[in-house]
Amino acid sequence: MGNRSLAIELLPRTIRSSTLAPASARGNPPAPAVRQQASAPFQAPAAPAKPPTAKPTIFAAAPSTFVFPTEPFAAPVLSRSDKIVRLKTLDEQSVSPCTKCRLHETRTRTVFGEGDPDAAIMFIGEGPGEIEDQVGRPFVDEAGQLLEKMINAMGLKREQVYICSIVKCRPPNNREPSADETATCTPYLLEQIETVRPRAIVTLGRPATQFLLQSKLSMSKLRGQWQSWRGIQVMPTYHPAYVLRQYTRQTREAVRSDLKQGLEALGMARRPRTAE
Ligand code: SF4
Repeated sequence: MGNRSLAIELLPRTIRSSTLAPASARGNPPAPAVRQQASAPFQAPAAPAKPPTAKPTIFAAAPSTFVFPTEPFAAPVLSRSDKIVRLKTLDEQSVSPCTKCRLHETRTRTVFGEGDPDAAIMFIGEGPGEIEDQVGRPFVDEAGQLLEKMINAMGLKREQVYICSIVKCRPPNNREPSADETATCTPYLLEQIETVRPRAIVTLGRPATQFLLQSKLSMSKLRGQWQSWRGIQVMPTYHPAYVLRQYTRQTREAVRSDLKQGLEALGMARRPRTAE
């Protein structure tokens, strides 16, 4: 190909659809469980003790009273150091001990998210899979490897973006989060977005896209169309797990086009590079 800037087509064929965790299925037929990824250099520390009781979180609103925000952010952007403190506090005091929905019963550990608190681009997925649940980090399975390739092909390193998901605990058997689980957990995500305040958000797959855009449309209708939410550009694209399962030129080109649009919209378009 002439432009290899998003060279996901070079992904090793060994990490195709048959190895993908259905955690990242994004509304597609479930796939077999993820196998441990040899190249993922993550050591799972000992699982934290289950919280004996629910602790109060900074979000008092019950899902039934929660109003999805659409207005521009009113608060000023925090300094980097204040962002770090706010995110750490949110994770340690609210998310890690959270028992607000049934997903806490089966999780090994919460997966808060990670990345540059000043990131210009935030990637939002659906929820932790098997490996993420063990290590407590987002996107560390095969789909995570592809996501990292996508990020690299945009001229960025994984550490330069922020990666998180709409629920912080793994749904059993990697099913999609239910509506009430999503409603209960997403105030944490909204807090992360408000803290990081990225210039663009790439939603990965249907659940994340439908939540952030508050839409019921399918991914085929939503992807590739820039939207604006609270002054942040939102680009829906396919989840990397879906790309791996549907490993066709058409799917890969769609994601490449989506991310290229994202870079151009941010004034970050880069010259084509040869894939590594
Ligand atoms: Fe709490 Fe979210 Fe985990 Fe549910 S999924 S227990 S709301 S952190």
